[in-house]
Amino acid sequence: MAKRDYYEILGVSKGASQEEIKKAYRKLAIKFHPDKNPDDHTAEEKFKEAAEAYEVLSDQQKRQRYDQFGHQGMNGGFGGGGGMNMEDIFSQFGDIFGGAGGGFESFFGGAGRQGGRRTRKGSNLRIKLKLNLEEIANGVEKKIKVKRYVACGTCGGNGAKNGTEMQTCGSCQGSGQVRKVVNTMLGQMVSTATCPTCNGEGRIVTKNCEACHGSGRELQEEVITINVPAGVMDGMQLSMSGKGNVPERGGVPGDLLIQIEEEEHPSLKRDGNNVIFDQYISFIDAALGADIEVPTIGGRVKITIKPGTQSGEIFRLRGKGVKDINGYGKGDQLIHINVWTPKSLSSEERAALERLRDSNNFAPHPGKSDKGFFEKVKDYFQ
Ligand SMILES: [Zn+2]
Ligand SMILES: [Zn+2]
Repeated sequence: MAKRDYYEILGVSKGASQEEIKKAYRKLAIKFHPDKNPDDHTAEEKFKEAAEAYEVLSDQQKRQRYDQFGHQGMNGGFGGGGGMNMEDIFSQFGDIFGGAGGGFESFFGGAGRQGGRRTRKGSNLRIKLKLNLEEIANGVEKKIKVKRYVACGTCGGNGAKNGTEMQTCGSCQGSGQVRKVVNTMLGQMVSTATCPTCNGEGRIVTKNCEACHGSGRELQEEVITINVPAGVMDGMQLSMSGKGNVPERGGVPGDLLIQIEEEEHPSLKRDGNNVIFDQYISFIDAALGADIEVPTIGGRVKITIKPGTQSGEIFRLRGKGVKDINGYGKGDQLIHINVWTPKSLSSEERAALERLRDSNNFAPHPGKSDKGFFEKVKDYFQ
């Protein structure tokens, strides 16, 4: 039988993207899935054909070779008669349907993807990490203690005494799966299910490890170094893969999920990558000018208030803000100047000011350069 063109099988063009290929295959796999078409030989052939086409076209190297040499280029591998076995096909599904959750798995009751024993993943570990503004601005290395389940040191993680007291499960012959024929409205459906005898592990422990009582794991305190990148935000979650718990009786550890909590700074306010500081000055300083010190993330910095400074003026200290999390430079520190009006006066102070009340220089006469509030806001966002 002459082999059909892989692109034709999937119904995609020669220039199809990986996403298009994946999508086309997913559709066919659902349509011709053997669980949905029991005892339909044609459907099974189509199912295998599509799987083979996908196997080649989803792999850049194989696809290139196929484009160049056609089926001749695919020596070995699949042989003549559509040689992928069902297990190979189902093992592709992690990639195709993985994470899709609702789609395939619920449709077929989880039967499709289980080609053999599943690798179990342990639970994730969640911690909260408090950081102050200084740490966030430049990034920080944090060492934290966590208690996590690791593989038992005595049995190596399988839960059997000496790590060897176990045997292959008789119910599933070690595959971890049992096949069931179910009568449904659509006819007979063959589905595979997790072996109830061994819980899908494919083997049974005959004598428990004494150190872990068969669980295969032990709780351990560990110091973990977390490299927190600069610019993280409150509520953001970082994850370190493989630093969570090991599951019972072997498997891959879960992840460590780190939730960032930003401590409030006593005087600086964060606004994205910028830092805002409210500086109050007396109207004497505003009128005569002064040198003052303001706090910044890197310590105190001197700034000069020019004579005639108005309330609402904004000083910008370039690069004194927070480093951008994606590496786009650094924010600034913005200093909002607020001119403080005295709320109570001694009779002497009152007399001094009364003398100045009618002085022409004290009467407000804003010029073009004295921008009102709206212009300032506009400038700020430009
Ligand atoms: Zn053990
Ligand atoms: Zn079993």
